[in-house]
Amino acid sequence: MRRLDLRDVLREAGASLVEAFDEEIAELGDAILTSPVRGEVRVVNSRRYVVVSGEVETTVQLLCSRCLRPFDYPVRAQLEAQCELRYFEDLLAGLPVPEDEETTSVFDLTSVDVEELIRQAVLLELPIQPLHALDCKGLCPGCGSDLNDEACVCAERAVDPRWSQLTVLLEHHQKREET
Ligand SMILES: [Zn+2]
Ligand SMILES: [Zn+2]
Repeated sequence: MRRLDLRDVLREAGASLVEAFDEEIAELGDAILTSPVRGEVRVVNSRRYVVVSGEVETTVQLLCSRCLRPFDYPVRAQLEAQCELRYFEDLLAGLPVPEDEETTSVFDLTSVDVEELIRQAVLLELPIQPLHALDCKGLCPGCGSDLNDEACVCAERAVDPRWSQLTVLLEHHQKREET
């Protein structure tokens, strides 16, 4: 399902078509997908417009913004696009068409780029700061350990004065031994 042929729909007012898809697509733009892209796309010729609608679901692999581990993020998105029938007539007649990015990125003379439509819809659903878990503890700014997996000693050193005393003593001791 890269592009969907619109010629039958364009030919007749009121014409429509429905197409289900279920495809393994490894990458969608910059996004890595870890489950098939499933859904349905519908196209209707409403006399003045060609209206595309549908649903898609898949799983995107994201990196946690706190601890940087990859995790699976399920996405459901709505597909939506429409285009004036005049656009196709003008394209066919070789007339200039408006340079409207939203239209030209998905429609050409005879088809709609469903994969591009899916890519745009899925990207809109992705979080700006993904978290692998809501309570992700992130990485220690001191030593870089993943605090979800291990409690590092940086925090203890900072909060417990007895430890810092001991560290100073140990360092002194070590220096004396070295000289
Ligand atoms: Zn995380
Ligand atoms: Zn640390």
